[in-house]
Amino acid sequence: MTENNMVLPGEKLSTSEELLSGDGTFEEDGIIKAARVGKYVVDEKNRRAMVKPVTSIPVLLKKGDTVLAEVRFIRSSMIIANVIHVKGENRRISGDTNGTLRVSEISQSYVKDPASEFSLGDIIRAKVTQVNPNIQLETKDRSLGVIKGLCTKCRHSLIKKDNILECENCGNKERRRTAIDYGNYDLNNL
Ligand SMILES: [Zn+2]
Repeated sequence: MTENNMVLPGEKLSTSEELLSGDGTFEEDGIIKAARVGKYVVDEKNRRAMVKPVTSIPVLLKKGDTVLAEVRFIRSSMIIANVIHVKGENRRISGDTNGTLRVSEISQSYVKDPASEFSLGDIIRAKVTQVNPNIQLETKDRSLGVIKGLCTKCRHSLIKKDNILECENCGNKERRRTAIDYGNYDLNNL
C-alpha cells in the first residue's frame, strides 16, 4: 500500500519486517493491516505504520447518503452493518452507526437468504434510506453491494474473477452481492 492513500479496515499496509504496527493498525501473521478507515501514513522516525482517522468533527448521517459499512451480523431476514464512512465526508460518524439492511432491500431481484449475498466482515457500499428511529440501508443499485469481501475459510481478500470471487490465498470460491466496481474501487473517491 502506498502512503497517503485512504484504506479500509483489514487492508494490508506493510509487513512486520518493514514496519511496526502503530495507531489504527494491527498485526496478523506478519502483515500489518488497517484497523479503521483513514489515511495510511508512516511515522518514519519510529518506523511505524499508522492509519489516521480523517478528522474528528463528527458527521450525522442523512437520508440519501452513500456509505461504507462493515457486515457485523447476519440474520434470516436482515443484515446489520456498522457504518464506517460517509461518501464525501472525511469525518467520523456520530451517534448510532449500526444500520439494518433488510432482505427485501438487498437486490432488485428476489433474495431468499441474506447469507447467500453477504458474509461477516464484508465491506459494503449502501444507501441510507432512513435515519430515525434507526438507520436503514439498501443495496439495490448495481453501484451498491460488497466492494471488499474476505474468504470465509482463511480471511484473506477475495479477488473477482468473471462472476465468482476467489480467495487469493486458498483458492476458495465464493459468491456475493458485489458492487459493479468490486476490487476496482477508488478509495480516495468513495
Ligand atoms: Zn481463503
